[in-house]
Amino acid sequence: MSYKTILVTGGAGFLGSHLCDRLIEQGNDVICVDNFFSGSKQNIAHLIGHPRFELIRHDIVRPLFVEADQVYNLACPASPKAYQFNPIKTIKTSTVGMVNVLGLAKRCSSRVLHTSTSEVYGDPEVHPQVEEYWGNVNPIGPRSCYDEGKRVAESLCMNYHLAHGLEVRIVRIFNTYGPRMHPDDGRVVSNFIMQALRGEPLTLYGDGEQTRSFCYVDDLVNGLMRMMNQEETTGPVNIGNPGEFSMKELAEAVLAVTGSSSDIIHVPLPQDDPKQRCPDITKAKRILGWEPKTQLREGLEATVEYYREQLQKGSL
Ligand code: NAD
Ligand code: UDP
Ligand code: UDP
Repeated sequence: MSYKTILVTGGAGFLGSHLCDRLIEQGNDVICVDNFFSGSKQNIAHLIGHPRFELIRHDIVRPLFVEADQVYNLACPASPKAYQFNPIKTIKTSTVGMVNVLGLAKRCSSRVLHTSTSEVYGDPEVHPQVEEYWGNVNPIGPRSCYDEGKRVAESLCMNYHLAHGLEVRIVRIFNTYGPRMHPDDGRVVSNFIMQALRGEPLTLYGDGEQTRSFCYVDDLVNGLMRMMNQEETTGPVNIGNPGEFSMKELAEAVLAVTGSSSDIIHVPLPQDDPKQRCPDITKAKRILGWEPKTQLREGLEATVEYYREQLQKGSL
């Protein structure tokens, strides 16, 4: 494999920082671009000073002129708490920002992998979700800044591909967890683990019967890289772990792994919270030869260990 110069937008975030690690390990030059809205310098501190790593503080809503052979577009806050903090900014990132990323790729004739989301399926009426399903999204609800933004971004990718022959790859990522997820970003895995480790009650939203399917970060990053480097499809392709759990089951699993005696309390369910979510990964298996390897229990153990270390170091 020949080494490449690879631009990673959102590279200081949870997923982006793991992706930067893997791309560097493989011998590539990596340009990490981030505005540090929901990412952190700590996630990439170990890469600073590496001769093949370059960090640019930049907001993709503004044009960016660098040269790259491949572009992974991850810039966009992913947790509801973060993306609802400034919804208009979230929409701009997925629309104006996406245009800039595609414009850059067009100028450089580089291939772009865009990280879309299972949220494009909204509160799905088809279960498990196949890529052919068009989704059930509330266009004016509190999640729309994120999911409608991501739907426009997919459309932009396809239209740059059709109009300009740009090589695009679209993945729809399902809930992913692991080390470096921001402890306060409000997503369920980080919330439950931090609450359990601090001896606080676990906040179960609604009756806790809603389901999600959780993919461990290492598996996810493998899937992204396979998607980027295959020649068969633009996608979209679902990447996620089809193991489906209710939030109640997740809370119990976190208590078991941490050994915490925290209580579980019920708090109101946020508006438009999807009732169920599970990827159909037939396409990923067939086209990418990919499927997740890490079971929830194993992944939770590694994640808990990370948060424990951070708490001990006083980094959280
Ligand atoms: P994250 O919030 O940890 O990372 C996003 C990164 O993008 C952060 O470092 C943030 O500072 C940066 N960013 C945000 N807006 C930017 C802008 N305008 N310009 C430059 N940088 C910007 O989230 P994550 O979990 O690592 O998610 C990465 C990508 O994967 C996102 O696009 C997200 O929508 C997608 N995704 C993630 C999941 C998941 O479960 N983690 C699921 C579906 C999709
Ligand atoms: N762009 C960018 N970096 C580049 C090339 C383009 O940020 O290296 C931006 C550019 O500012 C433009 C957008 O991407 O606003 C879309 O570019 P495209 O070439 O598709 O459109 P045009 O420049 O014709 O509007
Ligand atoms: N959730 C919960 N307690 C929390 C945070 C989230 O019960 O402290 C629930 C939330 O209502 C949703 C699921 O966990 O049903 C996943 O939420 P998250 O924000 O992690 O991801 P998303 O809803 O975007 O899939």
